[in-house]
Amino acid sequence: MRGFLVAGNWKMNGRNAVNEQLAGEIIAGMPHSDSVELLICPPYPYLASMAAKVDGTALALGAQNLSEFESGAHTGEIAPGMLLDVGCKYVIVGHSERRAMYGESNECVARKFAAASKAGLQPILCVGETLEDREAGRTEKVIESQLGAVLELVGIETFATAVLAYEPVWAIGTGKTASPDQAQDVHKHIRSILAAQDDNIASQVRILYGGSVNGSNADGLFAMTDIDGGLIGGASLKSADFLAIAAAAASQG
Ligand code: PEP
Repeated sequence: MRGFLVAGNWKMNGRNAVNEQLAGEIIAGMPHSDSVELLICPPYPYLASMAAKVDGTALALGAQNLSEFESGAHTGEIAPGMLLDVGCKYVIVGHSERRAMYGESNECVARKFAAASKAGLQPILCVGETLEDREAGRTEKVIESQLGAVLELVGIETFATAVLAYEPVWAIGTGKTASPDQAQDVHKHIRSILAAQDDNIASQVRILYGGSVNGSNADGLFAMTDIDGGLIGGASLKSADFLAIAAAAASQG
């Protein structure tokens, strides 16, 4: 039984007071369900204060990015061990915004994934195609090369403690969600890529869907066989919206 993970990617949003209120409301309203895990990923400067806030609760903490290096002369970078030190359990790796705006290649994402795993963090590996890719019929090929680069570097065993997120770039922050069937097709394909190497790991790994998920479309998406929760951007910034998505996951359990 895989269980659901509903992860909020706060991106570059929030300030102390807003974060305190948002996290407090999420903690107060989160479903008490063994089959649903809730996670927030605030910006770096707020990880320590949010770690204190979630301490003793079931709300998990994650970061949005990390360095592939362990320490040293990397001005402005954040090491995997630092994230662990301040209480992170998860870290998002290879978000499409980082790939597109900060030049992260498949190989760079793979090295970050490896660094996260080595440090004891659970990477949430984002993969997904652009609209151009989809229209050209390249969706599966793109996913295969994004996932393939990581598999090649770390091997299938590392996926036993990882999470995947299918995030079609055309659905992120656009209000256009993949239909449950469109998403399920890709999730099934992702699981089959992993199953070709290890059936057991493939059947246990959680694959999240991300891209304009909200309280109204979450039910349909989470009902699909291979969708194990969501990576939520915009709707994670309002507790009522995020909790509605969490409730949709809990109702599947
Ligand atoms: C995201 O950025 O990971 C995301 C899914 O954003 P949104 O929910 O706003 O589309």
